[in-house]
Amino acid sequence: MLIKRITVGEIKVPLKVPFKTAVRSVAEVHDLVLMIETDGGLIGYGEAPATAVITGDLLGSMRAALDLIAPRLLGKKMLDFNALLRTVHQSAIHHSSLKAALEIALYDLRAQRMGVPLYQLLGGGDPQLKTDVTISVNDVDVMVSHALRAVADGFDCLKIKVGGHTWQDDVDSVLAIEHAVGAHVALRLDANQGWTPKQAVVVIQAIEKAGVALEFVEQPVKADDVAGLKFVTDHTLTPILADEAVFSARQALHILSSGSADVINIKLMKTAGISQAIELASLARLHHRTCLMGCMLESAISVTAAAHFAVAFEDVVSYIDLDGPQLCAANPVQGGMQMDGPWIHLPDAPGLGITAVHGLTNVKVFDV
Ligand code: MG
Repeated sequence: MLIKRITVGEIKVPLKVPFKTAVRSVAEVHDLVLMIETDGGLIGYGEAPATAVITGDLLGSMRAALDLIAPRLLGKKMLDFNALLRTVHQSAIHHSSLKAALEIALYDLRAQRMGVPLYQLLGGGDPQLKTDVTISVNDVDVMVSHALRAVADGFDCLKIKVGGHTWQDDVDSVLAIEHAVGAHVALRLDANQGWTPKQAVVVIQAIEKAGVALEFVEQPVKADDVAGLKFVTDHTLTPILADEAVFSARQALHILSSGSADVINIKLMKTAGISQAIELASLARLHHRTCLMGCMLESAISVTAAAHFAVAFEDVVSYIDLDGPQLCAANPVQGGMQMDGPWIHLPDAPGLGITAVHGLTNVKVFDV
C-alpha cells in the first residue's frame, strides 16, 4: 500500500462566542486540513490550527513546510511507518502543528489498514470521554452567565480562563462563578502565562483561603520560566499544570524530574503528533504524575485523534479538555467523534472514523 496523493485545504468555522485568553481573542476556527490517500483508496485525515502565539504556526508557514514534506512522502510504503514518521520530523525543525496533522493522517491510515479504531491500535479502552468546557476571560458578570449556560448545557467541569485582567479581578471572577454554579461543579483555571510567579501564588492562595477547591491551575507563568513554575508549585496546595511550557518529551522530562509541575498538558499540536505524545504519557507514568489531554481551537478532525489517544492512555490521562468542537457553531466533519453535551463518543469504524470534511477552500493536491 503506497501513498498516492496528499490534499491540503482549509476550513473556517465560526465560534459560538469569541475565545478570549490572556494571550489572544479569536472569533473563528480557521484550520489546515490534510487528506493522505493510498493507492488502495483509503483516506487518512489530519488537521492543524494556526496558533501563532503558542506554537508559532501560521497557515502560510504550514503550507510552505508541506510543500517541502509532501513530495517526500508520495510513493512511500505505508508498511514503512516509522520511516514515514522520520520523514515528517526530519525534513524540517519546528512546524509542530503541521507535523501533528501529518502524523494524525498517517495513524488514521494505519488503523484503517488494520481494520480497527485508532484507540484500539493505540492500546484499547472505553471509547467515551467527558470533557470540560472553556469559560473565556470577560467581565465577571459575563463569565458568570457563560458558566451558568454551560452548566445548563450539562457540563459539570469548567475551565476558567484567567490572567487577562488584574489578579484581584481573577479572584473575584472565580469566587463569583463558584458561588453561582455551586460546589458540585468542578473548576479548573488556565492563566495562559498571565501572572508573575508571585502574583500566581497570591491569587491561588487567596482562592484556597476562600475555601474553593480547584482541580488545578494551568500555566500560571511564562512558558520558558520553569523556575517560576516550580516556585508556584512549591508554594501552593493546588495542583499546578504545565501547558505552554511542555512541547517535547525532553521538556516534560525536565519539568517532571525537577518537580516543577504536578500535571502535564498533552496537545498533539505541541507534541507534533501521536508518537511523541506517547512518550509524554510514558514519562508522566514513570514519574507517578498524570496528564491532561488538551486541544487548541480545533474542529472535530484533530480533536477526534486526541480523544482516541486519551481513551488508550486513560490510566495516565486523568483530565479531558477537548472542547474545541463544542465551541464551534457548526461541525464540518462527517463521522469521527460524536458530541452529546460534555460527552464524547468515538465510533467503532476503523481509524478516526471520519468519512468526509465539508467546506474545504484553497485546495492544493500533491500527486505521485
Ligand atoms: Mg492551556
